[in-house]
Order: sequence, then structure tokens, then C-alpha cells
Amino acid sequence: MSEAALNAMAQQYLDLTLCKSRYDDLDIQWYTEGPFWRRTSMRFSRDYKILPDYEIADAKHGKTLEDILDESEHLGRNLSLYQKTAKEEEKDRVGYLIAHTRALRTRTRMLMGEKLPFDQMTRELYDLTAPEYDYSRFDQIAEELNQALPGNGTAQEKIWEFRRRISIPKDRLLEVMKRTTQEFHDMSMERMTLTGNSMPRVRVRDLPSPDLAFLSILFAYDYNHLEYERNFNVKYPWTVDNVIECIGHEMEPGHLTFYEKRTQTYIDTCWPEMAVVQQFTPSSAFTEGSARHVIAMCFDYSAEQKQEFERQVIFRTAGLDEGLAELMPLWHEYCEIAGYGKLEATRRVWDQVWSCKEAAAFLKNYGMIDRDAADEAVLHLAADDGHFVAHDYARDVVKEYFHHRTKDVKEQWKLYEELCCGHMCMSEMERIASQTRH
Ligand SMILES: [Zn+2]
Repeated sequence: MSEAALNAMAQQYLDLTLCKSRYDDLDIQWYTEGPFWRRTSMRFSRDYKILPDYEIADAKHGKTLEDILDESEHLGRNLSLYQKTAKEEEKDRVGYLIAHTRALRTRTRMLMGEKLPFDQMTRELYDLTAPEYDYSRFDQIAEELNQALPGNGTAQEKIWEFRRRISIPKDRLLEVMKRTTQEFHDMSMERMTLTGNSMPRVRVRDLPSPDLAFLSILFAYDYNHLEYERNFNVKYPWTVDNVIECIGHEMEPGHLTFYEKRTQTYIDTCWPEMAVVQQFTPSSAFTEGSARHVIAMCFDYSAEQKQEFERQVIFRTAGLDEGLAELMPLWHEYCEIAGYGKLEATRRVWDQVWSCKEAAAFLKNYGMIDRDAADEAVLHLAADDGHFVAHDYARDVVKEYFHHRTKDVKEQWKLYEELCCGHMCMSEMERIASQTRH
């Protein structure tokens, strides 16, 4: 069969995805409508939506969930047929479309009320299954923090107190965010092939809910430029670690860089599947995992380099006690392990192995949620199902895969750029990553 047939299937996948977003408003993270787009009026809300923050109008309408399920099942069968005679150079693309169509189908079934076991859900949406974490690591890190962190009381009390002491004062937030954004922009420019025009405007605002970390407004894009504004919420509890995580991950070299690369790839190839980045898919697990991993790459895997950056750029600008910076490497290790704590808690609650009360007690014991958080807080650790698999576990899969495939960090930047523009396969990365582990 011809490439035109494959493009038609990819277009059907894109149309169904856009239609589904009407019922699944978190799903679309980025959408390239054509070679360029810009706002032509100021008649839009500054308090509405996060991404991509523009209307796709009738592309969203005309299909029920039943229609979408039905058509995506057909599409999946047609793609499998195509795969049988696909040319060698088409195999990655067909594999990508099959995995993404499976995610579309599964997500549609979930929206229709079906409840899948947690591991099956993450396998079908993100093409990943996180093995059970080694629970002894939670106790180990708590004990290490108990030894290292200042203050009296239990480990969990010291963790809560340390989090307070590395919190950014509200009146310094804008300066901290602006400086960190500029630094990550410069690091990305040094390491990747980028136009350099896509650094967002950074603002801070009082957003209605303290849970909302930021709100983004897209003004325009074309091949050479994303025109973007990011408003960080003054009410959100910003700490040194989540500043670095949020800027490097959400903007450059993380998600914004990925959107820039995808937009360019779509314009270069006209492959419809490159027009969209959606939450509940394997390519989302790639962008989430890699956007976390690239932060370590920015500092050449050196905990000292990262610590020095945090001391000079964040602690100093925020007016925090710079003596605490030396505890940050251990703190970051704790944050990574806490991500797995949340993964295990959400998995056990999802599969009804634990009640909310049991999960909350588990997380509180290690200071992973606030001391006064309600038990139900475990149901809202993230808005997206399987979040900690698509972020934390995906980060480690990407990390191990990158280490396996390359000899140094310079090659990793090249590989990252290639994967941003291509048809990545998460289960293949996971397979190779697990070989490295054993
Ligand atoms: Zn993200």
C-alpha cells in the first residue's frame, strides 16, 4: 500500500483524537493546525484553560464516544493489516500509530465508564508498566533525611520543616522565575539546534486555585517561533526543587522545546500524527519522562553543578538561606523516591488494595503529603490517570535507555532531539532499559 493510505489513517487518528477532546478536556497539550497561527483579537479569557488555549471549533464536534470507539477499533485493525506489508522505513511510524490508536481506544472506553486494572491502564495508555517499587527505599531515605536535615523531631517533621525553609517568598517569585527561565533557555541553546525565538514571557499572577501551578496563553506559532506567555500562580507553594522542575520541564529544554520540534516536524513531513501532543498516550509518556530527564542532562549529571546553580540562581535570588543548598542533592533524591511513593499509593487506591485513609497514612509517614492533608487528597495527587507512571517511571526508562544507547551526554542531546522529531516507542525503550537494570 502507498504512503497516501497511511497518511489517510493518520489523519483519521488525528480527527478522532480532536473529537475525543470534547469529552476529555485535559487531553490536548499541543496542536499544530497548519504552518502558522496567530491570535487576531484580544477577545479571549485570561482565566480560561491551560493548553493549547485556543479554540479548534468544529474539529471537536460531530462524534459521540460510541462513534469514536467504533471508528478507532476499525482504524486499529486497518493499521495492523498495513503493518503486515509495511516497508522497512515505515515500521516505526506504523508502530507509533498502532500504539497511539490503542491509547485512543482505551481512553475512550475509560470515558465511557470502564475501569481497568491500574497496570493494564498504564500499559494501554502509555505503553508502560511500572514494576513494584522496592518499599525499603522509602524507609532508607527517611532515615538519611532524619540524619541530615536540621531541626528536632521525627523525620517527617524535619521534612515538612525543610520544605518550608526552601519555599520561595511571594515577592521574589517573579525574579526567580525569570532568571531560571533565562538560564534554562541559555543551556538549551548551547546544547540543541533551536531557533532561539521561543522563550516564553514569564509573569506571576494570583490564580483562583492554589492547586493550579500556572496558566499558559499561546499567541502565535510558526516554523521559527512559539509566541507564548506563562503565568505562574503566586498562591502555589513554590519550593526550590519545583521551580527547577517546573521551568526545565515545562519550558525549555522540556515541553516547549518538544512542541517546537513537533511543529517543525509536522511542517517538514505533513504527517498528521505530528500535529498533536496528547496527554493519555505513549508520546506523552515520552515528553513527560524526557522533560524530567533532560534537567539532569543540563547539568551533565553532576549533582554539584546543579547544587551550585540552585544556590546562585534560586536560593540567592529568593533570599533563602544559602547554607541549605548543600542539602539539595539528598533532597532531590528524596523527591524522586517520593514520586514512586505516590505511584504506589495511587496504584493501590486505584486497584482497591488500600483505602484513601491507608494511602494517606503511608504518604504522611514519609512527609510526602502535607501534615494536614485530608485523606481524600490521595485521589487528587494528579489530575491525569497514571500520572506517576507517565512521569516518574517514564523518566527512569528514558534515562536508562539514553545511557544504553549513547556513550556521553553530548550524544544524549542528539538522541533527545531525534526522538522529539520522530516516532518513539516506549515499550521498546522500556525493554532495553530493563535489560540494563539486570
Ligand atoms: Zn509535563
